[in-house]
Amino acid sequence: MLRVFLITKEGEELFGELTIEDKAYFVEKEIKEIDCIVTPTFFNSHVHLGDSVAKDPEFMDLEKLVGPNGYKFRILKETNRDEIVSCMKNSIEVALNSGTTNLAEFREGGIEGLKLLNEADEMNVCIKLARPSSIEEAELMLKQNANGFGMSSVRDHEFSFLEELRDIARKRNVIFAIHAGERDNDDVEGALSLEPDLLIHMNMADVKSLKAAMDEEIPIVSCLRSNAFFNLLNNKNYDILSDYRLWLIGTDNVMIASPNIISEMNFASYIIKKDKKIFCAVTRGFDVFSCKTGLILFHTKKNLYKANSIRSIVRRANANDILQVLHKELVLE
Ligand SMILES: [Zn+2]
Repeated sequence: MLRVFLITKEGEELFGELTIEDKAYFVEKEIKEIDCIVTPTFFNSHVHLGDSVAKDPEFMDLEKLVGPNGYKFRILKETNRDEIVSCMKNSIEVALNSGTTNLAEFREGGIEGLKLLNEADEMNVCIKLARPSSIEEAELMLKQNANGFGMSSVRDHEFSFLEELRDIARKRNVIFAIHAGERDNDDVEGALSLEPDLLIHMNMADVKSLKAAMDEEIPIVSCLRSNAFFNLLNNKNYDILSDYRLWLIGTDNVMIASPNIISEMNFASYIIKKDKKIFCAVTRGFDVFSCKTGLILFHTKKNLYKANSIRSIVRRANANDILQVLHKELVLE
């Protein structure tokens, strides 16, 4: 039995005792001391693992770095597949070691890229969103474990092709996700007209479009460190998004930011200043993507010594505060 400070998936703060058996049973009780802090595991709702091979480029603008034929794709073309796979494996490990138990991976590089992911994702923790360049390739991807499609901006694809993919996704009951509103509002209307299942960014969308997407109940993922890298932070939109019941957080390109969602929370806290909302955005993915939540036990010996609020987990926690990740269901008694 452990005396714990528990934070639920909904960000509720409780004190009591935790008994770990087949499941983790929690009873609310007054306790004098805390053995550990317990939270759900985290869900990284947007990541590109493939560019783990090109970590930390010089600061440059969005198009030059990740646009079609930009720096990222030039490096990927030059790197051999084994190296890409080993870097992806390493990034998945970094994610797992920082309390993330599932990631929505936006896989580039067509069917070959999907094969690399299938090799790297040995524990099957990734929601695999592939990027086809033809309908034939799209069909093939679905046969090879893709959970759907993760497309770039409408700027980067033929619109009629996106419409066809949207139809296939609907028919086959898989996810159709797309990037929009990252650098401006110009690609937002097109993206919304596709009625996507998931939108990435929207930081630079105009408020009317942002609210339209929210009215349609499309989950929206923010990636604040990535936005900061490109000078695209926009507090006005984050403020609106943080009150949205389908707001999610991801870490985006590994080359820009580590796939450590705790670091993303730390950073987001100082920008948005709504710790509970941020916490919920890194646990909500389990519901949105229908995955099982685990539990994280944080020790309080060092960095989290005497910490007993959700604020400390969001602002201060580090991967090395994690004592254990449990793949068990939580039962509140
Ligand atoms: Zn992205």
